[in-house]
This record gives sequence, C-alpha cells and structure tokens, in this order.
Amino acid sequence: MPKVMIIGAGGVGNVVAHKCAQVPEVFEEILLASRTRAKCEAIAAAVKARTGREIRTAAVDAEDVPALTALLEAERPSLVINVALPYQDLAIMDACLAAGVDYLDTANYEPPDTARFEYKWQWAYRERYERAGLMALLGSGFDPGVTNVFTAWLAKHHFDEIHTLDIIDVNGGDHGHPFATNFNPEINLREVTAPCRHWEEGRFVTTPPLSRKVLFTCPEGVGTFPIYRMYHEELESLVANFPSLRRAQFWMSFSDNYLKHLEVLQNVGLTRIDPVEFEGQQIVPIQFLKALLPDPASLGPRTRGKTCIGCVVTGVKDGAPKSAFVYNICDHQACYREVGSQAISYTTGVPAMIGAKLILEGTWRRSGVWNLEQLDPDPFMADLNRYGLPWKLIEDFRFEEH
Ligand code: NDP
Repeated sequence: MPKVMIIGAGGVGNVVAHKCAQVPEVFEEILLASRTRAKCEAIAAAVKARTGREIRTAAVDAEDVPALTALLEAERPSLVINVALPYQDLAIMDACLAAGVDYLDTANYEPPDTARFEYKWQWAYRERYERAGLMALLGSGFDPGVTNVFTAWLAKHHFDEIHTLDIIDVNGGDHGHPFATNFNPEINLREVTAPCRHWEEGRFVTTPPLSRKVLFTCPEGVGTFPIYRMYHEELESLVANFPSLRRAQFWMSFSDNYLKHLEVLQNVGLTRIDPVEFEGQQIVPIQFLKALLPDPASLGPRTRGKTCIGCVVTGVKDGAPKSAFVYNICDHQACYREVGSQAISYTTGVPAMIGAKLILEGTWRRSGVWNLEQLDPDPFMADLNRYGLPWKLIEDFRFEEH
C-alpha cells in the first residue's frame, strides 16, 4: 500500500494533504506529522469534510533525528513530503536515509544563523542516497519546482540551445492587511532582504537587494506590476544543468506598500536573524516579528486577485533566434474554495503532490539526489494541467528590461 508521510502542518501542508487526498489511486494512505499535533488534526478534519478521506496524524519534532527515524520505522511510508521549514531539511534527509524512505521537499536547506540559499548541503547526500537505492527530489514547489520544469520543457521542445532565462513571479493578489507575507514570514523576509545574485557570462554577479526594477504586464488581463530582481535558489541548479545559459535572473513583484513596511522593519532591526539580548533573554528579532504578523494560513479567505508565475526563455531553434514564455495563472479565491488556502500555498502544494505522485508511480523514481529539471518534464507538465495548475505558452514573447 503506497503510504506517504507529510511533515509540516502549515499553509503548504494543508494544500499537500488535500491534493494527495484527491488522488486516492496513488496516495492510498496519508499520515500528516508536525510539531503541533492540533494543527495536523485541524487539517485532517478539513480534508475529511471536503473529500471524505481519513488522514492519520502524529506529533514529531523533525529536528530530533532518532525520534523521526523511529516514527518512520514504525509507519514505513514509501515517501516523505517535507513541507516543514528549510531548517529541517538535513535532519529529515538523515532520518529518511536511516529508515530507508524516499524524500521530497520544496525549499533548499538554510542554516538558521545565516541566510544562505545553496544546494551544496543537500547535493552532498548524492552518494549516500545512491548507495542506499533511495531518491531525494529537491525543490518540488512552484519556484523552485514548476519553474525548473518549465525551463526543461522549453529546452526540450522549443529550443536547440537556451541562452537567457527570466523567471517572473507576480502575485497580483491583495489580502487587505497593511503588511503580511504569503508564506512563512521568517523564510520569506530572509529571502527578500538577501543580496541579489544573478547569472551572467559564467558567474554569479551580486547587487544590492531589490535594486533593479522593471514593469511587467501579465497576460490575460492580470495586470501590470513592478517586479524586482532578486536571488532565488533554482538559479543555482538551472545554470548548472543548462550550461548554455548566458544569463539567468529571477524577478518578483512587490507593492510599494510592502516595500515601505520592509524598509522600516529593516531600518529598526526587526528583520535581523542574529540573537539580541532583551530583558535577560536572547531573542531573534525576525522570529519575534513572525509572531506579530498574520499567519499566512489565515490569509485564504481575504486574498483576492491572481498570481502569474512563469519563465521567459530566449535561445536558438533551427539556427534562428527565438523566445517563449510559459506560465500559469492562479486565482486566490478559486484556491480558497477548493482547499481553504490562498494561491501561494496552493501553487507550492500542488507541485509537491505531483512530484510525489511521479515518484510513487515509478515515472520519476531513481536513486540519488535530483533537481526537477534533470527529469523528463513531460509527465509533470501533463499533471499540472490535470491537477489545478494549467499552463500556457506564448511564442515570440518579448521581456523588455527598461
Ligand atoms: P508554515 O510556517 O505555515 O508551516 C511550516 C510548518 O512546519 C508548521 O506547521 C510547523 O509546525 C512545521 N515545523 C516547523 N518546525 C518543525 C519541526 N522542527 N518539526 C516538525 N514540524 C515543524 O510554512 P509554509 O507552509 O508557508 O511553508 C512550508 C515550506 O514551503 C517552507 O519550507 C517554505 O520555504 C516552502 N515554500 C516553497 C515554495 C516554493 O514555491 N518552492 C513557496 C512557498 C513556500 P508547527 O506549526 O507545529 O510548529
């Protein structure tokens, strides 16, 4: 009986649980484990109400490798879907190795004390996973995840060689709060405030955070938004796996209001990730800020508007220059109606379910540690259309940087 263990009962965990429950022919048994069991139980109750399916729950601290290994050995799932936080990735990979279970996540490992976004810690597990005959699939969310598959699919079907990649992530939604983040605030703010790195002529070039801005008009009337260049983790694996790329950049939309709040929070030190002493206690300001901000899982009912995330690629086909844009548009309210979450959690949770499905079915399963662009994009692209994230292609698309 294929059985999956989801670790992490946050906004993304809620979507993964719902989407796995919608595909009983693959996910015959589902266990949801997190630090706080009550959160797992609330999700299990919501899944039962929407789909009629039972999900079992467990409490576990994923950073306690012996405890997690014991739970895995007792439960014997075929696969762990890790949608806890990036800090837990290595501990969960260790427990999966010890218990002989395949592994999937949606974000690369981050050491808690430095905001570094690098695959080196997880790529270092390659040999151990190969020797054990186990698979680890890294970054099976939207970005990273679908953006890696979009790039691989364009390279496979539309180009002989790809030269530039611009990943564009627009959230045209509005949650009505003065300031909130759409996924875990601590992880989100660490990412946004980090120096920007983009790939140019064989090396990463560093520039100040959010220092380059352009206006981007999304297709299908979603709107025109300011997008800012920033570093994002999939750039590292994509430039390694597509060495013909001369330039690779990542862009995300931010409202003036979000940036104004961010600037003030930074200026007063509330986004700091190092501990400071406060009345005899050590506190990490960004963790305190997280406690004050709205829980991203609570944004679902209030968020309106659409996301538009995709990849613009240029290169050559049959000796002629070519460009193409492949993208998905996702409606916050439609996601809420389906699974009780806003679109950011939805666009992360659906690809996690699809990656898990392709592993459990055997379509993608192989030993070792893999990023998504290294695997055949076609079955993943087909499942995006089937399970709620339909995509479209525009050929001869021009992405103008002003
Ligand atoms: P949340 O903060 O909403 O949820 C995280 C969950 O992880 C919480 O339920 C928390 O448990 C649980 N958790 C934290 N520490 C532990 C631990 N030591 N042991 C067990 N469980 C733990 O985050 P999101 O759902 O918004 O994000 C989940 C992941 O998805 C993150 O890694 C994020 O970076 C990633 N992500 C990826 C995206 C992509 O496109 N690739 C986009 C958006 C997010 P508890 O509440 O019980 O304390």
